[in-house]
Amino acid sequence: MTVSDESPFRGKSVMVVGGSRGIGAAIVASFAAAGATVRFTYAGSRDAAEALATSTGSIAIHGDAADRDHLLASVREAGVLDVFVYNAGLLESGDPLTLDPDAVDRLIDVNVRGPYHAFVEAARRMADGGRIIAIGSVHGDRMPFSGFTAYGMSKSALQGLARGLARDFGPRGITVNVVQPGPTDTDMNPADGPLVQRMHDEMAIRRHGTAEEVASLVRYLASPPARGITGAMHTIDGGFGA
Ligand code: NDP
Repeated sequence: MTVSDESPFRGKSVMVVGGSRGIGAAIVASFAAAGATVRFTYAGSRDAAEALATSTGSIAIHGDAADRDHLLASVREAGVLDVFVYNAGLLESGDPLTLDPDAVDRLIDVNVRGPYHAFVEAARRMADGGRIIAIGSVHGDRMPFSGFTAYGMSKSALQGLARGLARDFGPRGITVNVVQPGPTDTDMNPADGPLVQRMHDEMAIRRHGTAEEVASLVRYLASPPARGITGAMHTIDGGFGA
């Protein structure tokens, strides 16, 4: 694939935590197609990660985002980053009275502790004007279903994280934003899954979004015209939260 000489991402350094499948893989492919040098981490999906690395020319790094030492080491190894995206996320659903507390703690490790520590570490060596983006969820704003408390809590936490870090890093021109998808067709939430009708009933545009649509929004937030957008939540949910 040829990349336009005018692509703002040509030669830029991008890292995506959790990039082997779904939305993360679409983000990796989008930045790679725009000429960036892209690294991404993955935990379980080695075959998918290796295939993506080969097809996009990106670099796959094996490691669990819940392992803070490994996560921070992989951020440090990336060197000076222009764009850092934390996409990895776990979903645990069920009655909070019976949900396994260890599973809830792991969700918090991956969905909240990981982004906090990784964003701080990325910012240490990020170029001025760099971009930090968390993949949150419309459930950070709105929860019309029972059984998703821990997940919703974790995505709301990203909002406070982005608002705070936007202030902390704003003097360096670094922006910090959250992209909040609604139902999006991936392994986590397949468009033919059991809850589809309930989800679509909540939407103005009654279809699952695509990972590529979410990746387009991420890429816009990382682009030069978005330099004044920070500390903000960007919902792409087919009107689920309207
Ligand atoms: P998938 O489950 O389809 O993919 C998750 C990705 O994250 C995989 O690449 C997986 O890699 C990686 N990942 C998960 N856990 C870890 C970990 N501990 N360490 C490193 N990587 C990890 O999810 P989606 O693509 O659907 O979701 C991506 C993000 O978007 C999540 O944060 C999710 O909460 C959010 N989101 C998704 C929505 C949807 O409807 N799909 C709606 C709203 C938000 P591997 O398999 O290699 O472990």
